[in-house]
Amino acid sequence: MSHFSYHPLPHGVPPGVFHAPEPRRAEPGAWPGFERALEVVNRDLVATLPGHPPLVLMVEPADGAGTPERVYVALPDGRWQGNAVHPPDPTDDSGAPEPTDPADLLTLVADAAQETVMEMSWQVWPVCQAHKLGTHVRSDAETVTWWCPGGTEAGGHHASRVGELSGTLPGKQRRALRRAKRKPTRGHQ
Ligand SMILES: [Zn+2]
Repeated sequence: MSHFSYHPLPHGVPPGVFHAPEPRRAEPGAWPGFERALEVVNRDLVATLPGHPPLVLMVEPADGAGTPERVYVALPDGRWQGNAVHPPDPTDDSGAPEPTDPADLLTLVADAAQETVMEMSWQVWPVCQAHKLGTHVRSDAETVTWWCPGGTEAGGHHASRVGELSGTLPGKQRRALRRAKRKPTRGHQ
């Protein structure tokens, strides 16, 4: 599938016969592990792409024809690109709950977030500040990082832990970010 469709149809069912339920925003608290992981990834997004809206979780309900409920990382308008974070294996229709391991959750969400941001906004994200190269999610043991292919003879390096990209920004950008955070939000003035 190349793009999010507002009217997904199960395979083999002709249009008009079956209407799959519409995707909707995940209820707060329904997927707590994915929510926490997305908060971490959104920190990186806000730090490195100011003006990009934070990402949300969208749920595509089970279609009653064998496709289970799916969870995606999406733009606030409901569009996404790439694979579901749940179930991570698209053939799994067991109805299993979300993973419990924080590193697994963060790896899934960071991967899906990158796909949605890059494909929907047509830009490489996140970029290693040192080498200006696009990074990818890598997890080893309990650490989930953005891995940059540049720089070392070993064929890459950890650019940052996921959630800590703001620490890699040049001082000027970091100070601007702190100022933006301090600014009172509209409605509280
Ligand atoms: Zn690098």
